[in-house]
Amino acid sequence: MPSTPRSPAVRLAVAATAVASTLTLSAEAAPAHAAACTGYVGLTFDDGPSSTHTPALLTALRQNGLRATMFNQGQYAAANPAQVRAQASAGMWIGNHSYTHPHLTQLSQSQIDSEIARTQQAIAGAGGGTPRLFRPPYGETSTTVRSVAAKYGLSQIIWDVDSQDWNGASTDAIVQAAARLTNGQIILMHEWSANTRAAIPRIAQTLASKGLCSGRISPETGRAVAP
Ligand SMILES: [Zn+2]
Repeated sequence: MPSTPRSPAVRLAVAATAVASTLTLSAEAAPAHAAACTGYVGLTFDDGPSSTHTPALLTALRQNGLRATMFNQGQYAAANPAQVRAQASAGMWIGNHSYTHPHLTQLSQSQIDSEIARTQQAIAGAGGGTPRLFRPPYGETSTTVRSVAAKYGLSQIIWDVDSQDWNGASTDAIVQAAARLTNGQIILMHEWSANTRAAIPRIAQTLASKGLCSGRISPETGRAVAP
């Protein structure tokens, strides 16, 4: 039995469906490979560097095409200068996160000054450049903390989204937190968290699907901008 030829209307409908699926497919596939960024977010990793966590974190970030700001503790920068240089070589930005991670608001002005100054020296001495960004431990700050930071040319950077990785958040929860980021916003993460490291490929996919790229944090505005 000969096959029944399709009517012109049916053939058009079939062709239209084929075109539509092609368009849908390419629209879905594009963000994963998108070069164009419609916005930028600031990924931040606190409390490094270390020889135990920094190398794997940098590898994961580079493999997924992400750049981040590393808020280093001065004591660890002094102990692991090679990891400070590795951060810089991997294209990361390096910020000051105090020397010993104290509750700065409970310290005298001269103690705050020492925490910040020694960290600037440790990071610069290791080859990480002179930081322009400062994150107080626990996000705890005061007018005194801010003014001491400003004395060293540092802008205080807190965060818009807390990944809660420090509080035992799962990899799923960390990915979901990153998915809440909008243009210009900053997320808090930690370099020592295995769940955070595991979340990096999915964070990259999530950001790409929204046209967001990882950017640097502007000392002038405190927001994420193009690198
Ligand atoms: Zn910290």
